[in-house]
Amino acid sequence: MFKKKLQKFDHKTLIKCLQAEDELQQELFQLARQIKEEVFGKKIWFRGIIEFSNICQNNCFYCGIRKGNKKLERFKVSKEEILDCLKFIDKANYGSVVYQSGELISEIFKKYLLEIVKTTHKKYPQLGITVSCGEQDFNFLKKLKQAGAIRYLLRIETSNPELYANLHPEKMSWEKRFGCLKSLQKLDYQVGTGVMVGLPGQTIEDLIRDLKFFVDNKFDMFGIGPYVIHKDTPLGKDAKIQNWWQENKEKNFNIFLNFLAILRILLPNVNIAAATACDVFDSSGRIKVLQVAGNVIMPSVTPKDCRDKYLLYQNKPNIDEGADKSFKCILNKIKKAGLEPVFGEQGNSPFYYKHN
Ligand code: SAM
Repeated sequence: MFKKKLQKFDHKTLIKCLQAEDELQQELFQLARQIKEEVFGKKIWFRGIIEFSNICQNNCFYCGIRKGNKKLERFKVSKEEILDCLKFIDKANYGSVVYQSGELISEIFKKYLLEIVKTTHKKYPQLGITVSCGEQDFNFLKKLKQAGAIRYLLRIETSNPELYANLHPEKMSWEKRFGCLKSLQKLDYQVGTGVMVGLPGQTIEDLIRDLKFFVDNKFDMFGIGPYVIHKDTPLGKDAKIQNWWQENKEKNFNIFLNFLAILRILLPNVNIAAATACDVFDSSGRIKVLQVAGNVIMPSVTPKDCRDKYLLYQNKPNIDEGADKSFKCILNKIKKAGLEPVFGEQGNSPFYYKHN
């Protein structure tokens, strides 16, 4: 069996498993599923995600809401609308809320975010609050924690600083992003990170490095998704990259699923979310992730009229539906897949409690 070899980071086995297809892939999935079920059973926890602003100061070469995308209409969800979203989350009995946005470090933005976290915690103290608003300074992260946030999600995007440099403008630094993850750990957040799988220029060695990075740095939760091209970004405008992406998207999605299965085998008790981007490749993409490795789903609660403006990548699914439809759709699929939706529980990472 390859379990021990994977746990020992045996290089050949990692390469074989990352590229697995057919029978070997089924074997890998079976092992990951078994390990996941030993910790979580068939349970799936819900987080309602509110993508509350697409205003961003950054210019990541892959991202549709980058500052340089002048075609995009920008929005910020009002406090009243946020209260409506929270009412929905309460009614649906999701155990947690995620506040996500583009990255801004202005005082106005920080004040707004702090206020919505404070209000949420006061009105719904039982709700687990996750924030995912990019790189923020230590003092502000501390204030957010004191206001009631318990988790923070900041994807490192890739563990390879050189690849990171190829995908971001010079003024964005891998070291600074990593430093921010360390600050979050110092502040005792449940810390989530992740990468995109299938990035242009990313190698199998990079993915192995990502897995090692995840294990070595003791993260509590993961948001990992496939890279999806967006035509109004520097990567998406490059004809060579466009062709490469089209030709390799299925193969890369397969590698992505294998990557998550290996991650689950390496880290049995972390939280792994099924990213929305999975449904771009296959309308059951998120369910496939939940059947193999994931234990968390984050249905969108973003107001309907903002959804088509929070486009990180092309062909984002479900942008024409409201929170109710997003909920019913995914709930049906989860039940049909034989998984067990959990309501009214925060679904915190068991790994966090173990190392704290
Ligand atoms: N601003 C926050 C941050 O930097 O963490 C959160 C929002 S950011 C848009 C959320 C995530 O979207 C990024 O960490 C990135 O991994 C993902 N993303 C951006 N563009 C993408 C693309 N073209 N395909 C797949 N994922 C993408």
